[in-house]
Formats: sequence, structure tokens, C-alpha cells
Amino acid sequence: MAMNVRPVATLDNEVNDIRLATAEIVNEHILPVEHRLWGWTTGGRRASAETVEEARTLRHEIQDRVKGARLWAPHLPKEFGGMGLSFMQHAYMNEVLSYSPGAASLFGVVAPNSGNQKILVKYGTDEQHEQWLKPLTEGRMQSAFSMTEPHNAGSDPRSITTRAELDGDEWVINGHKWFTSNGYAADFFIVMCRTADPDDPVGRNDRMTQIIVPKDTPGVNIVRGVPVWGRGGSHCEIVYDNVRVPRENQLGRTGTGHRAAQDRLGAGRVYHCMNSIGSMWRAFDLMVERMMTREVHGGEKLEEKQFMQGFIADSYIDIQSARLMTIHCAEKMESGADPRTDISAIKVFVPLAFHRVVDRAIQVWGAAGVSGDLPLAGMYQGARTLRIADGPDEVHRVLIAKNILRRYHAGESWDFGN
Ligand SMILES: Cc1cc2nc3c(=O)[nH]c(=O)nc-3n(C[C@H](O)[C@H](O)[C@H](O)COP(=O)(O)OP(=O)(O)OC[C@H]3O[C@@H](n4cnc5c(N)ncnc54)[C@H](O)[C@@H]3O)c2cc1C
Repeated sequence: MAMNVRPVATLDNEVNDIRLATAEIVNEHILPVEHRLWGWTTGGRRASAETVEEARTLRHEIQDRVKGARLWAPHLPKEFGGMGLSFMQHAYMNEVLSYSPGAASLFGVVAPNSGNQKILVKYGTDEQHEQWLKPLTEGRMQSAFSMTEPHNAGSDPRSITTRAELDGDEWVINGHKWFTSNGYAADFFIVMCRTADPDDPVGRNDRMTQIIVPKDTPGVNIVRGVPVWGRGGSHCEIVYDNVRVPRENQLGRTGTGHRAAQDRLGAGRVYHCMNSIGSMWRAFDLMVERMMTREVHGGEKLEEKQFMQGFIADSYIDIQSARLMTIHCAEKMESGADPRTDISAIKVFVPLAFHRVVDRAIQVWGAAGVSGDLPLAGMYQGARTLRIADGPDEVHRVLIAKNILRRYHAGESWDFGN
């Protein structure tokens, strides 16, 4: 089933045109070959070399088409090869391009490269743009973001113990990270390091610095790719052992690493949520399609059963609330209002709604729902993972409550209109 994207009356022509052009590529060029795009195999065997090669060729053909349609890299400014979209335009495009799992990468947006690119655009020097950003954007390099540590709570970035000490004109880095996604493919890592006394209670949040570390630097030891959901992968455990890099590899001023990480995560959470909404949209279409065609006991279609109708209604409510909440949050960010409570709210609500919507779609499809023949099983794992990555649910709930209570303690109540 094709994604049904029509012009939205409240959006301007430019965004509507972008959404329609994106949907055209998704519907006409991605969905028909989706099962061949990623070298998947459903026969329980490893994909053959020809299958993998065919998948690569197909992906390149679609990427060329996307570039030809000027829909490449919506997250980047034009001077860095992107579309130069505003924050809202990008958000509205994301829900369309994520209808097919993995399609974002065909539009030049691949985590963690996309987050790293944004940090490099904002904090990088001209030399860093030339050396790291340009090849990353042109697809000649890969990158990873190395912040979480196995022995410290990733949900509290202040717990990081990886340290970088200045020795002359070099940073010397020692530490232990894991879940550095894309670690095997990466040519360089952006490593979050402590660069001051962690026991200093003053400005603790500020005493972090992000440092670019090329993978081939002596002392960078990739221990393993941590298996996720039972599969080996590229979420790497890495020991940094006396790793020396030039001082100019630091991103921004010393001590701004925490701020940079917040910048990365704030906008990123809105984009992730719009991506989740695109995936929910797909799961919903798949679910309804199956209900309309599957005959069950008594010769009736699934759509005639009230349990199933309840699934449609509940999923509709989940998707609409998740989408409107995310758009409200994005509008708040764009207007310059303080969006922190709303960012935390969508970070909790949207992955949970995504989880429920995909769960129902899987149930409706029965065994096929958990098979590799449909994108639902992958979506389910993605939705579950999102409840941990980028800050677990509980941490964001705590933040919401703190922000709200602070306001009430100051004698104000909450204005839900803003
Ligand atoms: C697939 C995947 C990819 C990832 N990619 C990257 C990457 O590229 N780079 C990177 O640096 N990291 C990455 N991460 C790591 C991710 O950001 C962390 O897992 C996340 O921040 C949580 O940290 P933690 O795992 O150490 O959990 P912990 O901090 O140990 O928290 C565990 C649990 O404790 C509870 N909890 C924590 N704090 C509180 C609190 N204040 N109140 C109540 N309950 C609480 C929550 O339920 C939480 O889930 C990735 C993770 C996954 C799963």
C-alpha cells in the first residue's frame, strides 16, 4: 500500500511540495524494492554476495534520484550539501521519508552521522569542516558518537569518567565506552571526555569536551560490537588507552561538550519522534490492510471483529496524539519558547505510542507479524530501544515533573495553551 500524502492546508507550498516529492520517491522507487534494498534474506540463510551487491546498487540508484530531486540531506545547510531546510520543514519531511524503514539513509540522513554533522556545522572550525564534515557529507567517511560508558549511568552524562588531559599541544584520552553505534564502519569518533576535576561542584555540567578521534589512532581498541536484540552489530565497546590527538581536534571551546550534547539531542528528539510517526503510519496501513483481507473463523474478515476495530481506533488515537504533540513541541522550539518539558514529554509518549501501534499491527498479522517478511518486527525492536536510548523514560518523567513543580512553587500554574 502506498503512503497517502496530500497537501496540508496549514502548511506553505514549499513544505507541501517537499512532502509530495518525498512521498513520490518513497511510493514509486523505495516501497516496490524494499525487500531487496538491504540485502535481507528470509530463507534463514546469509544473503549471497549477489544479493548484497544488488542491494547496494539499488540504494545508490535511489540516492542518485533523491539528489536529482534536490531532497538530499534535509538536516544540513546548503553550503554543506544539504537542503537548507528550516527546523519545521525538516520535521515535516521526516514523517514522510521514514514510512519505509531505513529510507532516511537514502535521503542522506543516517544516525549517528547526521547528529555528528550538525555538531560539526555548529561547533567545528573551518579546518574541521574541511577535514571531517565535508567527507562525511559526501559519503566518503563514516563517524560515531562515543559517550556512554559501561560502568557509569548513561542516563546521567555527568557520571562520565573518560578523561582527556592536555600534554603540550595534544589531548591524551583514557576511558572505556560502549554502545558507540556505527563503531566498526566509522573513520572517526566524537568522544565525550571530562576535561576538568569531576569533583568540582561548580559548573560540573560544563566540564566536558567533545574531541574528534580518528579510528586509526594508536590506543583506540575496539573490544567488540555489542550484540543487540540477539544480533551482532556495530554498537561498539571501545577502550581509549592513552590516545593522543592534536589539541585542535576538540570541538568548540573546552568545557562546552555537555551543551553540544544537549544541542544534538534536543532537535534530534523531535526528528526521531517524527521518524517514529512515519513508522507508525506504515504499521497502521499494514494493520488495516490485513484486517480488510484476512478471513478468520466463520468466514468473516478481521475488520468485522470488534476487538480488531478497537485496534484501529486506539492506533488512530495514538498516532494523532503523538503527531500533534510532536508538532506542538517543534513549534515551541522554533518560536524560541522554552521547549524542555515538551521535549521530555514527546521523548516518553511517542516511543510508547509507537510501541503500542506496532504491537497491535503484529498481533493482527499473527505469525507473519514477527517474521522477517514484514518490517514490523524491526519496528517493534526499534520502538522498544527508543525508550532507553537518548535518555530513558523515567529520567524524562522526572524532568517533566521538576519543570512543572518549579513553576507552581514560583506561584504560577501551567499554561497549556502555550
Ligand atoms: C541501540 C542503542 C544504540 C546506542 N547508541 C549510542 C551511541 O551511538 N553513542 C552513545 O554514546 N550511546 C549510545 N547508546 C546508549 C544510550 O544512550 C544509553 O543506553 C542511555 O543513555 C541509558 O544509559 P544506560 O544504558 O547506562 O542506562 P542507566 O543510566 O544505567 O539506566 C538504566 C535504567 O535505570 C532507570 N533510571 C535511570 N535514571 C533514573 C532516574 N533518575 N530515576 C528513575 N529511574 C532511572 C531507567 O529505567 C533506565 O532505563 C545506545 C543505546 C542503544 C540501546
